[in-house]
Amino acid sequence: MLLEPTVDGLWCEAGGFHVDPWRPVPLAVVTHAHADHATPGCGRYLASERTLDVMRVRFSKDLEGTPVDWGTPIELGQCRVSLHPAGHVLGSAQIRIECDAEVLCVTGDYKREADPTAEPFEVVPCDTLLTESTFGLPIYRWPDPSTVFERMNAWWRENAAAGRTTVFLSYAFGKAQRILAGLDASIGPIGVHGSLVGPNSVYTRAGIRLPDVLRADADSAATLAGGGAIVCPPSATGTPWIRRFNGPEGARMGFVSGWMQVRGRRRWRAVDRGFILSDHADWDGLISTVRASGARRVGVTHGSSEVLARYLQEKLELETFVVPTRYVGESPPTSAAPPEASTDEGVPDREREE
Ligand SMILES: [Zn+2]
Repeated sequence: MLLEPTVDGLWCEAGGFHVDPWRPVPLAVVTHAHADHATPGCGRYLASERTLDVMRVRFSKDLEGTPVDWGTPIELGQCRVSLHPAGHVLGSAQIRIECDAEVLCVTGDYKREADPTAEPFEVVPCDTLLTESTFGLPIYRWPDPSTVFERMNAWWRENAAAGRTTVFLSYAFGKAQRILAGLDASIGPIGVHGSLVGPNSVYTRAGIRLPDVLRADADSAATLAGGGAIVCPPSATGTPWIRRFNGPEGARMGFVSGWMQVRGRRRWRAVDRGFILSDHADWDGLISTVRASGARRVGVTHGSSEVLARYLQEKLELETFVVPTRYVGESPPTSAAPPEASTDEGVPDREREE
């Protein structure tokens, strides 16, 4: 196969590069700027321009990287390598590798739904597909995002009318900007945690429309308390920082994640509301993507790999294999147990970006 798992991550011998390496390597081709895919300290990076922009605001402004234009092949060793939008977050790419008439595509994280803050997913025909499977269980089927945003805005409106600050918990890059783009700024002021400021600037520079926001701090606390909405990472819950924004009637916490589809997970952080909004493909999205690629061999990675691999093998008669994931133990349970039976056991201690 064109890519082999190694201790550093996926390695392409014919091209002399790693894909989303786990440790610093000389040459990294990176799908997107989430921490479980982009590792700091590599000699040189090849990625989409937006991915490099986000990596520079999150890792180091001096990061050595060469932007690769969408769909434009570059030669690496004996391979032709090109990037194609994955629809996951701004700049997220699938990596197409062609060598000796064999085509392999690494999806990275991806979703199929429209998202005004990410380039739309593109189907990449290939012989071998390495697909993610973060939500690779049939229980995961996403509601229409526009309905979810309506519910989020209605909840905010209701909280504001009752003197309660609204808090949306979300990962700082990707989901947070998608939430901001979907919030109705006419309801009240919007505040953001400091970790969103860098990524937000990349989105704005890329021409993505985000509402005007305040940096949530001591200066903006009085403005945001009560009628405002705050977008911040889950780690901010229970901190003195978040408490300073409490309105006269306190605050309400809403967690925005695909994990909210499983009832047991809503108890995870004692949140008041769960909103099902994911930047990953749901079960149907995974299957339809595998079919559309035309691949005969499918490697599955991240999440419920075995369940999806078995399904593709038995139902679609594809050759499948499981690709090792870096964060063993960080993924959710792989059993197909019904939601009611699930526990919080598999929820990561470290916050997985999704
Ligand atoms: Zn990701």
